[in-house]
Amino acid sequence: MSESTLSIGVLLPEILGTYGDTGNAHVLAERAIRRGIDARVYSVGLGDDIPAELDIYTLGGGEDTAQMLAAEKLRTDPGLVRALDAGRPLLAICASMQVLGHWYCDARGQQVAGLGALDVTTTAGSSRAIGELVTHPLVDGLTEKLTGFENHGGRTILGVAAQPLGRVLAGIGNCEAAVDDQDGRCGVDGAVQGSIIATYLHGPVLARNPELADLILSRATGATMDPLEVPAVSQLRRERLAAAGC
Ligand code: GLN
Repeated sequence: MSESTLSIGVLLPEILGTYGDTGNAHVLAERAIRRGIDARVYSVGLGDDIPAELDIYTLGGGEDTAQMLAAEKLRTDPGLVRALDAGRPLLAICASMQVLGHWYCDARGQQVAGLGALDVTTTAGSSRAIGELVTHPLVDGLTEKLTGFENHGGRTILGVAAQPLGRVLAGIGNCEAAVDDQDGRCGVDGAVQGSIIATYLHGPVLARNPELADLILSRATGATMDPLEVPAVSQLRRERLAAAGC
């Protein structure tokens, strides 16, 4: 790792790579490189120690058994907690949002301890939430709709320390607004707390939402990102938003 190279970690891709979320790290690297910022993606596997000094961390989604392995790894390896204590940005998708919470229940009703880095808990839903998910962003620095697809059985409730990433316009997100509604904390997607941004949006989410990618890059570098138009991405966004009726 060189000091002038932006280091982007993909944690546990062999177990949290089911949904293509590894692509998030590559989008971050590519958008940095196209602006003349040297960037490199580091893969950190289950058998590796998690380095605490990467500039950005990403975690993906996965199925229940893989997710349980990830929970155990993240509870016992101090690297990610040290990085978060130092304020390093982490993007966590779906299963990893659940794992970062206090606990989650899997499809068999087994309760698994999480990392406690996010003030969220996740119970098993009565059906899977599958399909396009579109939200209106609720975080400073984001103005454009967030688009992705969701595929999860868990229903996540935010505690007071976690803020939602977006308000659901299409799809389910954390939990149905009419069910388990606690102070309007359902009908939203994701969890934002400290340097963590977590969401149920797959896609990969950063391929569909360049504004979110650039927000993470800005936070990591401390610099405003120059505009970067990628026509294929704009077209993809139009198509996917239209598919969701947004
Ligand atoms: N296994 C979790 C659930 O079904 C997470 C799935 C995922 O990461 N897509 O809720």
